[in-house]
Parts: sequence; C-alpha cells; structure tokens
Amino acid sequence: MEILYKSLDNSQEMLLHSIIIQGEMDMMKIDSQVSDIISKVSDGYFLTRDEILFLLKINPHSPDAGFVMASADAINRAASGNKAEVHAQIGVNLSPCPKNCSFCAFAAKNQIFKEKNELSVEDITEVALRAEADGANAIFLMTTGDYSFDQFTEISKEVRTELKPDTVMIANVGDFANEEAKQLRKAGYTGIYHAVRMGEGRETNIDPQTRFNTVRAARGAGLLIGTCVEPIGPEHSIEEIAEKTLIGREMRPCYSGAMRRISIPGSEMEKHGMISEYRMAYLVAVVRLAMGRNLVGNCTHEPNVLGATSGANLFWAEVGSNPRDTEVDTSKGRGLDVRSCMEMFKETDFGMVQGPSVIYSENNGP
Ligand code: SF4
Repeated sequence: MEILYKSLDNSQEMLLHSIIIQGEMDMMKIDSQVSDIISKVSDGYFLTRDEILFLLKINPHSPDAGFVMASADAINRAASGNKAEVHAQIGVNLSPCPKNCSFCAFAAKNQIFKEKNELSVEDITEVALRAEADGANAIFLMTTGDYSFDQFTEISKEVRTELKPDTVMIANVGDFANEEAKQLRKAGYTGIYHAVRMGEGRETNIDPQTRFNTVRAARGAGLLIGTCVEPIGPEHSIEEIAEKTLIGREMRPCYSGAMRRISIPGSEMEKHGMISEYRMAYLVAVVRLAMGRNLVGNCTHEPNVLGATSGANLFWAEVGSNPRDTEVDTSKGRGLDVRSCMEMFKETDFGMVQGPSVIYSENNGP
C-alpha cells in the first residue's frame, strides 16, 4: 500500500481515499430494495419489469452490485447442483449474408467474408466427434441465415448417425416455419438456439415477429429452446435489456444468459465500442435472477471466469465460422475449445455435467 501511495499524485490519492471511505460507508448495509428483490427470487417468484430495471440501474462497482452478482451465483449453483456444461458450436458455412445484421461478421454490408465457403460433411463430423470425445454436453450446428434448409438437414442426418445416440444435437439456424421444425426433429435435433436479439428489426433486417414465429414453430415440433440476451453493446438502453430479458423468459427456454457484442472491424457498430466483461458479468447476474430460482442453465459468451462467478454455468466452445470473428476458422481466432472452457469452470469451483446436456432436457424451464 505504501508503494502504491507514493506512485499517486495528490488528486489520485484523494480519489482513492474517497472511494475507500464511500466503500466503508456503503458496506454498512445492502439497500433494502435490493435484498427484497433477491429474497423474492429465492422464494420462487418472478421479477417484474420494474424490478429488473431497478437492478440494471445499480452502481456497478458498489456493494449492492456485488450482492446481486453473488446472489445470482448462489441461486445458479443451487439450481444446477453446482454443475456446469460446455456446448460445442460448429459453424458450418461462411456467406455474405443478405439479412445484414449490423453486428455480424457474415453481414454482406460488413464486407468481412466476400465469398461463400463451407465445411465438408466429413470435416463437420470429425470436429463433432472430437467435441463429443472431449466431453461437450451438446453439439450445435450453426449456419448463416441464408443457408439452404434442405442441405442443413441432410448434413445433420449424416452427422447424427456418427454421434452416440444420446448425444444432444442443437440447431442454430435462420428462421423457419412448422414444416421445417418437424424436419429438424426428424433429423435428430433436441432443440434450437434462437433469440429476439438486441436491436432486432432495427440493427437487423429481420422482423421480431419472424423470430417469435420460429420459436413457436420449434415448440410445436417438440424442440427445446435455448436463448440469450444478445448481443449487448454500450448503445443499448437498460429498457431494451429488460425487454429482451422478459421476451426470453416468455419463450419458456431451458436457459437464457447474456452475451456482449464483439466489434467487427469496419462495421457501423464499431464506433460504439464494447461493454466490459465486468458489465457483461453483471448483466449475466440480472438475467439469471430474472429467469427465476429453478432454471438449470444460464449462459455467457464469450467464456470468462467472472461470468461463471456471477450466475453462468454454460459456455460455448467454437470451431468453424463465427459471427463474432474475422477468422475463417474461429478455433484459430476467438473460439475456445471444450477443454479450455472446462478449465475455466474448474477454476470457479464448478463440477461438470458428464454426458448429455441436463440443461436441454424436457423438464427444465423457468
Ligand atoms: S446474424 Fe445470422 S441472419 Fe444476421 S447477418 Fe449474421 S448470419 Fe445473417
């Protein structure tokens, strides 16, 4: 401490003192409204929009915020039996996608990928088998929004036959209707990942209603829904974060969570910058609380230790294409492998679910 003080000028020293004094004062008690909200979740009730907004307004570096994050962590560990999951996502193809979601590396207007490219069925099968052997609890196949649905189901069936019968497969694809949902089920999928994303219809060319319709079609075909409040940037209001949190809850998903927007170089979103991992971890905590006491599963992306101590017990390993990366194969860029994700959970004192996903199971929901 002595050395630190010597390196500070007078104004910095005064600021440090005021932070410490304020902190000591704040530590005397947690705001009663915050503790009432946490008690409400612990007692099995769902938070209202106003309560979610109240949590989102808390000073992020206050004892109240720390209490929110620790409480979300405790509730998450209790619901999951202190078990975490890693799901492996395989990006099947690259394409300049005409849906033009502003935050996405595949958006044609962002001009990151100018030509189409895709993995062979053999390559997809190989990485899926490797992820399965490494202990991934579910295998996701992801495509761009303009990928042929028929081709996707054909590839999926081939991969399905190579995996163990109880390995959980999840589709992360563009929007679809009832018939396609049935085809996904027949191809061996347990569920889908889908979200009404931040700025949907404003920062994307997709009507939010189209996203709702896809979720409804998936449900009708017996597919389980995983969702997330994403991709969050500093440009988004807390009102929209609360709105998207509640939309996710209304989907009756098997998990939600929070993911930040990663800046794509040259994109129109780049000027906004990105939220910090700390802010993302706080949002993970608020979403976890908003989903109620019993849900087994809350994600954050990209994987980070802070998120796993603030209410997240689901990470994704990634290989192939990635909408947040400018590398053709994200395993050489931003994507982590299954073992690295597991290592992070180990560092946060989580055990790992062995075998098929518990999160993507019939009885799991808010
Ligand atoms: S997020 Fe999906 S639909 Fe939007 S541009 Fe990217 S690949 Fe296309």
